[in-house]
Amino acid sequence: MAIKVKTGLESYVDQPRFHFDIYAILEGSQELYFGHETQVNVNLVEKVTVQRHNGEEIEKCYISPTKRRGVERRVLIWAPKANGFLGDAYDCGIPHTCSQAECPICRVFGGLITSAIDVETDDGGTKKRPATTMIGRLTHGGGVAIQPLDPEEKQRAMHPSMLRQQGEETPMPFKREYNEPGLLYPVYNHCLSMTESEFSSVVYAFFGSLARLGAGNPKGVKILDAPLISDNAEPWIVVDRYLAPVGKRPVVSPSITEVEKAKAEFKNAAFSIGGQVQTPAGELTRGNFHRYVGDRAIAKLTDDLERFESEVLNHVDAQADN
Ligand SMILES: [Zn+2]
Repeated sequence: MAIKVKTGLESYVDQPRFHFDIYAILEGSQELYFGHETQVNVNLVEKVTVQRHNGEEIEKCYISPTKRRGVERRVLIWAPKANGFLGDAYDCGIPHTCSQAECPICRVFGGLITSAIDVETDDGGTKKRPATTMIGRLTHGGGVAIQPLDPEEKQRAMHPSMLRQQGEETPMPFKREYNEPGLLYPVYNHCLSMTESEFSSVVYAFFGSLARLGAGNPKGVKILDAPLISDNAEPWIVVDRYLAPVGKRPVVSPSITEVEKAKAEFKNAAFSIGGQVQTPAGELTRGNFHRYVGDRAIAKLTDDLERFESEVLNHVDAQADN
């Protein structure tokens, strides 16, 4: 038998492929809880220890890329599709991914069926799913807060549903740590060899996840708004579309603890291509490399959102409101 040497990714469209990167600085709009572990009635948030360049060790709050990935995937599963949900349209969920090449979720996030399984169908029957692996082409990075602010511990009453489950008469209070509001989290999404259509799934998931990051309530982050190209405030986001990675990556070193220093590092990289400092602008190009910055990046991503809406979420009866 001949060996397989191809990537194995089925392709339905003859469209050009590019690498895409999203670099953004997110701001916690309120306190946030990113569950990590519970110790003697205290729910702790996830933290990372960072060794600074001067050898000093500090702890920082963290939005883990794994958590962001999970929230993003759920945003797609629960996206409205033909008065139902996108995940249901492909029988695609978590942890049971459909791993079909035509699924707009698995196509980019990847899928895994470890051994052949039977899946329930809408008509009450079953269908077979063979064991398969779909390589994800979207990876997540960053998430370490810029400021080294310790989480705040707060007293919380127990949720009524938990009371019922445990048959307790009196509320059992517990403590929970929260990431303080206003923390800044640089985050990065990288896409390997995608068509514009495939990238539109990534964009929809990225924007949809912003309001939903965090465990329990409250939730939500926004893209930092501050002067970037000019003195006018605009979103701190950079989007690259390229074949070869010639742009300097706007990644903030976790060793940095001062906001102004972090912003300077992000900005310097955003306006550096091929080792050359560029005049700050919303759109920078060198050959096949395109970089979109700030409001211009939002405009480019909005085109992708609309593409996703028309190509994937079509037939939504939003007008009828029923
Ligand atoms: Zn799927």
